[in-house]
Amino acid sequence: MSTPGVLLVEDDNAIASGLTRVLDAQGYAVRRLSRGGPAVTECGPDIGLVILDLGLPDVDGIEVCRRLRAARPDLAILILTARGQELDVVAGLDAGADDYMVKPFRLSELLARVRASLRRAGGESEVDEPLRARDVVVDLAARRAWRGDEELALRPKQLELLALLVANAGRAVTRERIMFDVWGTSWTGSTKTLDTHILSLRHHVGRDAITTLRGVGYRLEDG
Ligand code: CA
Repeated sequence: MSTPGVLLVEDDNAIASGLTRVLDAQGYAVRRLSRGGPAVTECGPDIGLVILDLGLPDVDGIEVCRRLRAARPDLAILILTARGQELDVVAGLDAGADDYMVKPFRLSELLARVRASLRRAGGESEVDEPLRARDVVVDLAARRAWRGDEELALRPKQLELLALLVANAGRAVTRERIMFDVWGTSWTGSTKTLDTHILSLRHHVGRDAITTLRGVGYRLEDG
């Protein structure tokens, strides 16, 4: 595979130049925009990941995220948000973002997220049998999931989280394992994003399907 392209949409010059330097050193082809308006046009087929600041001078980052997702369903989108803007994070995930980082963040942490996002977006091409538990079926190869006859409209991370739980149905899956497998990080300082995803998954697969194991993780009940 050729070098994955990263589109960085960030109006803060200090953050943008730091990120560009680090990503560049890792071999990513980085293109930077300081406004959101041209993001969709600039997001060519060479771009595998967009790092998107939510506070942009022209178009709201959430709206940019929505447009990018509509234009490029397979794109990885990582949003950057200022501390304490949790509603923004939820809105961003609803608008199709795969992951988020709260500023200020550690560059090592960001690089881990970038790698994980691109690995997922770049096509895990292994053709797996669909996973089944309860009335839930997850077909990772097709990136689709069903409850009974009803197909579930899941975001990319929700799909992977559900797949992990279904593959381990009846067994506890630790938060650490989930953070590592789904978010590509061993960082568990704040796992609010995991809680948010579990909450929304329960809407899809049934409130009683996923049990919270306090201090441990989660278990998809297999009966
Ligand atoms: Ca900004």
